Amino acid sequence: MKNRRIVLVSRPEGWATEANFRLEETVVTPPADGQFLVRNHWLSLDPYMRGRMDATKSYAKYVELGEVMTGGTVGEVVESRHPGFKAGEFVNGALGWQDYAVTDGAGVRKVDGSKAPLPYYLGVLGMPGVTAWVGLLEIAQPQPGETVVVSAASGAVGSVVGQIAKIKGCRAVGIAGGGEKCGYVTGELGFDACVDHRAGRLHEDLQAAAPKGIDVAFENVGGPVLDAELRLMNPFGRITICGLISQYNATEPYGIRNLRSVLTNRLRMQGFIVSDRMELWPRALADLVQWVADGKIKYRETVAHGLESAPKAFLGMLRGENFGKQLVKLT
Ligand code: NDP
Repeated sequence: MKNRRIVLVSRPEGWATEANFRLEETVVTPPADGQFLVRNHWLSLDPYMRGRMDATKSYAKYVELGEVMTGGTVGEVVESRHPGFKAGEFVNGALGWQDYAVTDGAGVRKVDGSKAPLPYYLGVLGMPGVTAWVGLLEIAQPQPGETVVVSAASGAVGSVVGQIAKIKGCRAVGIAGGGEKCGYVTGELGFDACVDHRAGRLHEDLQAAAPKGIDVAFENVGGPVLDAELRLMNPFGRITICGLISQYNATEPYGIRNLRSVLTNRLRMQGFIVSDRMELWPRALADLVQWVADGKIKYRETVAHGLESAPKAFLGMLRGENFGKQLVKLT
């Protein structure tokens, strides 16, 4: 049986390109004792993967040249020599950019396709949804009536952050690229306002959208967006640094101009990585499942088809061409 997989063949300098990846065909290795074979059905494309392409020190090990690109998947167990997993069961794990994977089950959890559509376990009921829950409720701890601003607001994490903020009685302000995304964020997701960061009036528009100032900034983007938020922070506000996607392909670091706001407003700025808080996953998931079932959290996906489309879709997502959670359907 043949496996197709996408490996990293070179490291980007600045913007990643399709030439950094190669599609390879190999033979599926049968599982040994204590292992099982999974046919991946869905692949998640996430901004963190850009970091894994660089051989630099970070919170997780980078991908070696010639190695399969790292990535979360949902798939079906097709053959098992593992006591905990049976053929026919569906699982979620970091099984990589490939059609098939053999695993010993480390970090793999079972998912139930009758409770929610399988790709939801890579989005709103998976890592991005839990990231939104942990970063907002555990790190920023917004209070009712406070103003919460979230960047990349139409995306996998940001869309959930703003909707949780609304559930908790806050004013939710999104920042997104373009009128169509902003229209979706306010019209469909129910945010109170959304600012188009491409319109060239970031400070003025954000000030109008957050007339009482910003209490919580959930930062997914960094660069000029973070600077604009810093100018409008209220005393004792919190800034959750979840991601800095505007910087992931940058060759020069962006110099923050308004850092003084951290001092004068006595702000708390805290970075976090969702995998450090695995103990919170069950609580977060229970809330998210309920809110999705109640229609309080709405959710959108962009789906590319076939493993071969993954590099292009990944690069498009880094440029903002995705609308909601970016996935690849492999089957
Ligand atoms: P999204 O679905 O939000 O997709 C990325 C979006 O980023 C794009 O659609 C685009 O939206 C926006 N973007 C890209 N470049 C820029 C730019 N220069 N300026 C402004 N916006 C830009 O991705 P995710 O929801 O999966 O991830 C969002 C963030 O959360 C990322 O920074 C990611 O690294 C981080 N993250 C962090 C985790 C953690 O544990 N700390 C876990 C998961 C994600 P638009 O068109 O609106 O500009």
